[in-house]
Amino acid sequence: MMNTRRMATLEALLPRPADGGDPAAVDALPLDGKRALVRVDFNVPLQGEVVRDDTRIRGALPTIAWLRERGAKVVLCSHLGRPKGKRAAELSLLPVASRLAELLGEEVTFAHETVGDEVVRLTRELAPRGVMLVENLRFDPREQAGDEVFARELAALGDVYVDDAFGCMHRPDASIAGVPKLLPAAGGLLVEKEVNALGLLLARPDRPYAAILGGAKVSDKIGVIEALARRVDHLFIGGAMAYTVLAALGHPVGASKIEADKLDVAKSVLDSCAAKGVKVHLPIDHVVAASFSERARPEVVDAIEPDRMGLDIGPKTVAAWSEVLSTCKTVVWNGPMGVFEWASFAGGTRAIAELLAASGGFVVIGGGDSAAAVARFGLADRMSHVSTGGGAALEFLELGDLPGIAALRRR
Ligand code: ADP
Ligand code: MG
Repeated sequence: MMNTRRMATLEALLPRPADGGDPAAVDALPLDGKRALVRVDFNVPLQGEVVRDDTRIRGALPTIAWLRERGAKVVLCSHLGRPKGKRAAELSLLPVASRLAELLGEEVTFAHETVGDEVVRLTRELAPRGVMLVENLRFDPREQAGDEVFARELAALGDVYVDDAFGCMHRPDASIAGVPKLLPAAGGLLVEKEVNALGLLLARPDRPYAAILGGAKVSDKIGVIEALARRVDHLFIGGAMAYTVLAALGHPVGASKIEADKLDVAKSVLDSCAAKGVKVHLPIDHVVAASFSERARPEVVDAIEPDRMGLDIGPKTVAAWSEVLSTCKTVVWNGPMGVFEWASFAGGTRAIAELLAASGGFVVIGGGDSAAAVARFGLADRMSHVSTGGGAALEFLELGDLPGIAALRRR
């Protein structure tokens, strides 16, 4: 049931009453017999009319159950894919409604429109504890335009609003940033879990605090790299990103994937780390290959020859980093250490994941591919938190807030 931590976050997310007093308690959100409009992330992969991966649908089940237990009628809304503001039959949420009905063992009403009088009528006719899903939000161009009239039409589908789509909260869309300004609003269980875990990293991380960064590109993540570099005690850099940094320091990186136009950015991050006393750890050995291929022969080297490319961190690096990481009480990890999709170059990512799983510290994994890597190694359950947020998680770590979270507060 509800622990004190959850109370605290939900209260923090609930609007302050107009008199400026204490935030309303969670129970102040009226639910019994009310229509709860819930923004979920049902952006799932489809194969024709079959849901290929229902992880995100399952992810919403606790919030749906929580609301139904309190007597609410649950009206769900989501986007699916990129229909660019037009109806597209292949991006209908109907298959998602079917899968949800299977998972709930319960009928789910599907509205073939997203908003409008007919949809409003369906929400009103819904039985208490009934569940309904409306059509793809992005069939309407006003969703991504953050249109206020569309937000009002959506708000007509509920008496209260719950946001459980953390991975979308960095978007100023009508369903994310508009609706919560119009209805009593709160974060759902998924959102609350994310905000608790990521909020802890922002507010009061136990030290030493380390960030491990990797993945494909520096340019995708400049903001979050700079923000983390201001906060942590140790910064570990692996993945392709490491080669841009090593190149900036004048080390030979051979044919590794670097961003030649980001050398100055890499240098300035290193400079600001030096100025702040943040210890930066770079790979001291590498798993290299002659080509970017799954079948390329892996070799472990200390220095990268001109005709070789770095595809993973090496065993000496793992050993050296382990010593420091084992002393860290808080770790945030974004970006794989190598091309983990290929067995020959997955060793570094796996070793770091195993180390963190056994560390006993507060460990947060952020980023789509990083989460996929940890799941592939069967270690997701052993981390303190694996964010489902992707870009939203990184933006939250960078800016300390998101449009969707701010909107829950601002009423
Ligand atoms: P996340 O989704 O966790 O934020 P990214 O999308 O930034 O991570 O990066 C993931 C990708 O980086 C993976 O597909 C992986 O293969 C790739 N990658 C990691 N290390 C290297 C490397 N040394 N060379 C090329 N690609 C790499
Ligand atoms: Mg990625």
